[in-house]
Amino acid sequence: MDERYSRQVLFKPLGQTGQEKLALSTVTIIGCGALGSAIAETLTRAGVGTIHLVDRDYVELSNLQRQQLFTETDAQQMLPKVAAAEQRLKAIRSDLRLFTYLEHLDAAGVEKLAAISDLIVDATDNFETRLLINDASVKYGVPWIYGACVGSSGVVFPFIPGESSCFRCLLPVLPAINETCDTVGIISPAVQVTAALQCTEALKWLSGNHEAMRKKIHHFNLWDNSQLDIGVSRIKDPHCKTCGPDAVFPSLNETGVSSYAVLCGRDAVQILPDPNRPITLDDAEKVGNQLEAGVKRTPYFVELKVFHHRMVLFGNGRLLIHGVHNVAEGRKLYHQVFG
Ligand SMILES: [Zn+2]
Repeated sequence: MDERYSRQVLFKPLGQTGQEKLALSTVTIIGCGALGSAIAETLTRAGVGTIHLVDRDYVELSNLQRQQLFTETDAQQMLPKVAAAEQRLKAIRSDLRLFTYLEHLDAAGVEKLAAISDLIVDATDNFETRLLINDASVKYGVPWIYGACVGSSGVVFPFIPGESSCFRCLLPVLPAINETCDTVGIISPAVQVTAALQCTEALKWLSGNHEAMRKKIHHFNLWDNSQLDIGVSRIKDPHCKTCGPDAVFPSLNETGVSSYAVLCGRDAVQILPDPNRPITLDDAEKVGNQLEAGVKRTPYFVELKVFHHRMVLFGNGRLLIHGVHNVAEGRKLYHQVFG
């Protein structure tokens, strides 16, 4: 193995064999915000062969405090996070096989990725997507590593199908993180620690050191210097709809209707238009020009400023409306502009 990985190969539990396994591995990272940036960079530098990276958002100035892959230029250009990440990751390691998806992850998408991955790493910010990942993980027998952080605290746990309880089983005991980064903020070290713990579990799994995997949910708070390991081996719902004997994988089988419009953070709503009536970038540009909406078009999206709100339509028809505080308000604006 080349000099590049010499210090990692020296680390006994990895060694040459572990390094070769990493090179042959395929990892899917769901989300490319703070956690996703840190995880993608660490796994890229560690020599993971193939990475699939999914994110639906673009870079904004308020991301730069903690989302380590992005620059001021990315924010000025409102570059999609996966596009900015791709530039940076390929600059770090040119032989990385990287596949990016500028999409809202749905059931079909997560199933496709689970089927070709050795591991899924959670870098999302919501329970709905984690339930989706959990279903796909159990259905395809692919482990996933849960990670969440807010304020100065974080939680990490590796879910291994057939060995650990599943995420749905553990929902009642997971430390409540009802707050979000949009409401109570976050300091970057909380991100770094969470991502580091997740990446360590990833390296263990991918290098074949399965006996070293964490068996307890780890919770830490960097500000009040506390940490807690919660044993969960006995917590298993015998009738779990994901890992029980009559599994139906509810999240994978929900219709897309529920994700038609969702609140993203504190003041943005995402709308997924009816697939039978898609909106193209050309449509948005045309409507925007009619409304004199200060149209800005890039290869990835069209931005409009309508009725004091910022709307961003992506190439796949997904619409983000900023400056609205609930789904109904977002829906109303969508219909006002696009009929
Ligand atoms: Zn379960």
